[in-house]
Amino acid sequence: MSEMTATTTLADRLLTVQQRVQYAADVADRDPATVTIVGVTKTVDRPAVDEAYRLGMRVFGENRVQAAKAKFTEPLPPDAQLHMIGSLQSNKAKVAVALFDVIQSVDRPSLVEALARQSESSDKPIDILLEINVAGEDQKAGCPLAEAPQLLDLLRQYPRLNPLGLMTMAPLVDDQDEVRPVFRGLRQLADELRERSGIALPMLSMGMSNDFEAAIAEGATHVRIGRAIFGG
Ligand SMILES: *Cc1c(COP(=O)(O)O)cnc(C)c1O
Repeated sequence: MSEMTATTTLADRLLTVQQRVQYAADVADRDPATVTIVGVTKTVDRPAVDEAYRLGMRVFGENRVQAAKAKFTEPLPPDAQLHMIGSLQSNKAKVAVALFDVIQSVDRPSLVEALARQSESSDKPIDILLEINVAGEDQKAGCPLAEAPQLLDLLRQYPRLNPLGLMTMAPLVDDQDEVRPVFRGLRQLADELRERSGIALPMLSMGMSNDFEAAIAEGATHVRIGRAIFGG
C-alpha cells in the first residue's frame, strides 16, 4: 500500500474514535472535552506516532519501558505527553522517571519507593496514577481495592510524586454492560479517596478499544485506545 493510503487509514480511524467518544460523552451528558484519548502506540513504530501527532493527538501511551525508550530517543514535541501504562519493574524506575510524563501503573509500595528515590535523585517531579485491580482478578496487575488508601498515604509522603488519580483494566468480556460495575467501582474508589485524603485526584484512566464507551458512561477522563486507532 502507498504511504498515502496508510495515512488516510489512521486519519479515518482516529476520526471514527473521536466521533464515538463524542457520542458516548453526549449520551452520558458529559462535555466531550473532559475525555482525553490516550493513543496506545505499543504496536506501531515512530512514524505512526508522529502521524497521529500531526492529526492532533497529544497524549500517547506505551506499556514497555525499553521499547518506549527506543521509540522516543527523539522526544515528543513539548505539548505532547507520554504515559506509562504497563506493569513496571522497580529496576526500570530510573528510565521510567526520565522518559514518561505520567506513570499510570503504580500498584505497590516497593514501586512507589523506587519512583520516589529516582524522582528525588534526578530532581524530576512525576505524575502518578494508582492502578487498581477493581475486579479482583487473580492474574492481574493492580493494587487490591482494600489496599488503595494505604498506597495513596505512602505516595503522598513524597513531594515529588504527584497523585493525579486512578487507572484500571477491566476483564475482557464481549458485553460492555458487564464491565460497567468495574468502571463504576473505580469511580467510587476515587470519590472515597478524595473524601478521605482531600487530594483532588482528577484523572480516571479506564476503557480501551473494546469498552471505552462504557468507561465514559462511568466517568472516564482518559481512555487508552490502541487497536481502534492504530490497527492490529
Ligand atoms: C494495550 C493496552 C491498551 C490498549 O488496548 P486496545 O485494546 O488496543 O485499545 C490499554 N491499556 C493498557 C494497559 C494496554 O496494555
